[in-house]
Amino acid sequence: MTTTNRRIVLASRPTGAAREDNFRLETAPVPDLAEGQVLVRHHYLSLDPYMRGRMSDAKSYAPPQPLNEVMLGATVGEIVASKDPAFAVGDKVLGAGGWQEYAVVDVAAAGPWLRKLDASKIPLTAFLGAVGMPGVTAWYGLNEICAPKSGDTVAVTAASGAVGGIVGQLAKAKGCRVVGVAGGKEKCDFVTRELGFDVCIDYKSAPDAKTFGALLREAAPKGVDAYFENVGGMILDQMLMRMNAHGRIALCGMIAGYDGAPAPLTYPALILTQRLKVQGFIVSEHMSAWPKALGELGALVAAGALKYRETIADGLLSAPRAFLGLLKGENFGKQLVKLV
Ligand code: NDP
Repeated sequence: MTTTNRRIVLASRPTGAAREDNFRLETAPVPDLAEGQVLVRHHYLSLDPYMRGRMSDAKSYAPPQPLNEVMLGATVGEIVASKDPAFAVGDKVLGAGGWQEYAVVDVAAAGPWLRKLDASKIPLTAFLGAVGMPGVTAWYGLNEICAPKSGDTVAVTAASGAVGGIVGQLAKAKGCRVVGVAGGKEKCDFVTRELGFDVCIDYKSAPDAKTFGALLREAAPKGVDAYFENVGGMILDQMLMRMNAHGRIALCGMIAGYDGAPAPLTYPALILTQRLKVQGFIVSEHMSAWPKALGELGALVAAGALKYRETIADGLLSAPRAFLGLLKGENFGKQLVKLV
């Protein structure tokens, strides 16, 4: 019996905010496997902010996602047919299968992007979050760029999210005072009560720079030594004003500007006068750090010592809507789509 695959392709590039009609659903039969190939049935797909950048053809660190091809993305699933001796039917795998129900994967070509998973102690979905790319992003930016010492004040934006929530917990474990910034009281309560941050600023209750600056002074009375930046815009400006001398800023994401609106820096001179280190990074360019990071994160999650939250949309057709929601903060924690 022929298996039918449903997939979502990029139909057009957005101008301004992305819209549901930038995506298109397609249906096609799953082709027969050749030697060295496996068929993966995706159980969950990951939705991540970087996908918005790939939808555009503006200059970036990676080439744009081609039009009329399956939206790229990480997936976890199960091998349902195999013509490669390294993989057996029933194996759970992490892959880069994209927004579709099935993927035919050429094992040799996939390399590290098809990896067997041991889901006995770690939930399958965590391999797309805390024990996956977002977790490693948090680990790398915090340890290699923010380099916090015990007693430092560390601040992080999008604090309830897949990356931010891990950053703050790892910094707490290093003995730091941790200040989160998140949108809304519910997210802030989660960040302090569940994740154990010292304080969380609800930036939505402080829409102008002056109010936000006052809340930040209260939250970080000794200034900020290390800042993990996920958002940009007004919040970055206010953080710069609060940075201590020789502070470190890991520029991880600038989601407030992903639709292309300019977000100028108001006080760049502070980088000089406070002798700040400001470093952007892309986690996929630091593959040598992944095994150590994944080892530590996996052990923490298996021991229940690293917490995270997930928002799970149901079914492939819900992916575009859920993705647009992620860009507006409608997710609460790691955004996933459940396919099985
Ligand atoms: P999250 O789970 O944190 O979801 C995104 C969150 O961003 C939303 O929930 C929302 O939280 C916040 N947000 C959205 N729009 C705005 C806005 N205009 N102003 C302020 N906050 C906003 O996503 P991830 O944890 O996956 O990603 C976090 C950041 O890390 C992103 O910027 C992403 O691009 C970046 N990233 C970078 C990587 C790298 O290699 N450099 C790798 C992975 C991620 P809230 O409701 O609290 O505002």
